[in-house]
Amino acid sequence: MKKILVQLDSDKSPSVFDAVTAYDSGVDNLLQYGDIAPCQVRDLVHGAMFTRGEDALKNSAIFVGGSDVTSGEEILKEVVNSFFGTVRVSAMLDSNGCNTTAVAAVRKILSVGEVKGKKVVILAGTGPVGMRAAGLLALEGADVLLTSRGFAKSEKAAATVSKRFSCNITPAQVSSPEETEEALKDASAVLCAGAAGIMLIPESLWAKHPTLQVLADANAVPPLGVENTKPHWSGKEVEGKIIFGALAIGGLKMKIHRKCVAQLFTKNDLILDAEEIYEIAKSI
Ligand code: NAP
Repeated sequence: MKKILVQLDSDKSPSVFDAVTAYDSGVDNLLQYGDIAPCQVRDLVHGAMFTRGEDALKNSAIFVGGSDVTSGEEILKEVVNSFFGTVRVSAMLDSNGCNTTAVAAVRKILSVGEVKGKKVVILAGTGPVGMRAAGLLALEGADVLLTSRGFAKSEKAAATVSKRFSCNITPAQVSSPEETEEALKDASAVLCAGAAGIMLIPESLWAKHPTLQVLADANAVPPLGVENTKPHWSGKEVEGKIIFGALAIGGLKMKIHRKCVAQLFTKNDLILDAEEIYEIAKSI
């Protein structure tokens, strides 16, 4: 039986990236829907639920994407609310790559050593990747500091993550080199989660930092988030620090993304959000 993935995207044009990755994950047919609002979800989900017998339902699945994570979360909630008992299909949320990218970055950081009880800073952590990574690191026991150029924005993002992951994220403003230095004081690890092409840590700060052991950078577009590093560095040791560039994180992200989509077709009752994707990534 053909594996059919229903792509529900909050953007007008459903993501080509997610479509290509779906085919590379073994999907036979992709049904793409763009500009999806939560009120449209139920009928589309019923089309996936009621067309195949219960034993065959694992061959249909739903992927929720789009650039807006909050919209994606609302769509996923409607997907789940549309099911009746065992008549359901598996679904995955990865709006803007938030889950797969954050999971990849956190797995890279954790590959160096545990973060329990250690300070981990998410610089420019108010975007989809930074917020998911903050929650996952807090679940690993890290003391997470999430920064923004504006304190109010960091406070809002920290509160959202704290609620979503039942944890306690500390907000901070970082809008100058002095504030970057202050944020990184006593930190063991840092994730640069800023927008593409934004340098967040000058070499003069990271190279001589007394406590930083791990630096991870999600930004592959020059200038990179960590100055004078290379995007392909995958655990390269420089100045006593272990560094992961965006291409190293991206390579793992692609493996995680493909494995999760493939996993959707093994059962008809999986809901893959950050925590579940994180568990699946542990086996890669
Ligand atoms: P995003 O939402 O585009 O940006 C994250 C934060 O960057 C924003 O919330 C903003 O924070 C800050 N920012 C924006 N412009 C800035 C500027 N001029 N100076 C300082 N800070 C600025 O990021 P995202 O979608 O979460 O993605 C994070 C990074 O991961 C991006 O670089 C993206 O390209 C990359 N990415 C990598 C992969 C991969 O596989 N490696 C996959 C997906 C995404 P404030 O306004 O709060 O300061």
